Amino acid sequence: MIQTRRRFGQHFLEAAWVTKIINSLGATANDTFLEIGPGRGALTRPLAARAGRVIAVEIDRDLAGLLTEQRITNVRVVEGDFLEVDLAATLRDEPHPIRVVGNLPYNVSSPILFALLRAADEGRLFSDATLMLQKEVADRLVATPGSKDYGVLAIQVTLLADVERLLTLPPGAFRPPPKVTSGVVRLRFRPPHVDVGDPRIFERIVRGIFLQRRKTVSNALRSVADSLGRSAPELLERARVDGTLRPEALSLEEIARLSRAVL
Ligand code: SAM
Repeated sequence: MIQTRRRFGQHFLEAAWVTKIINSLGATANDTFLEIGPGRGALTRPLAARAGRVIAVEIDRDLAGLLTEQRITNVRVVEGDFLEVDLAATLRDEPHPIRVVGNLPYNVSSPILFALLRAADEGRLFSDATLMLQKEVADRLVATPGSKDYGVLAIQVTLLADVERLLTLPPGAFRPPPKVTSGVVRLRFRPPHVDVGDPRIFERIVRGIFLQRRKTVSNALRSVADSLGRSAPELLERARVDGTLRPEALSLEEIARLSRAVL
């Protein structure tokens, strides 16, 4: 028996929940899946029985070895850190678009999310991603303007994907149980609905404003506007945004206008 490695966020899914997640995927023989962190293969095996192909990226050498030894004909095991794998090169010869699934290690779920968004945006590599996350992260992903969870994560994600919460799971759904409740969300990637101008400026504005979410927009915008060689009042006027609002009241369209106003 291979020991559980806490540093890799290993919490293995119990059978009853595997069925629910697999059913939610509705996989067909035409689908190619990229699985992040297959672990002992709880999702990989039933998925491979339904899908055309599964590419499974696992950081733990022992678990990757065990999965490889199972010799499931339509599963390709890639041993490595998902955050360091060259996705475009790894997936070049696989049938596209690719669907993503993963019961993510919670300590790196945000960087993995951003890596997926970048890859989906740059190469139209992925059609959708079904991800198990810490419930708090799932709450922030599906949050809408005006709510306390609305911020950088919801804005960056809704720019590039439609997001839906599918399931909430108690700690007992995993062995060993984590300390937190978990949630499954699905992202359906699509081109942005709004024009943000320069995406790097947009990201700086979003992060700048929400770093100071207790302030009004006009105060929260000040330092990021200065760093971009503009003034906050100038940007607010050009973007027709009410500076007395709190950051969480801003819609994606209003933040996009602030970003375009810099150009
Ligand atoms: N999919 C399995 C399941 O549902 O039972 C395991 C899920 S467990 C929460 C997370 C898995 O991701 C572990 O197998 C862990 O070794 C792997 N992992 C952790 N960090 C990773 C990384 N950066 N890249 C790829 N796999 C990683």
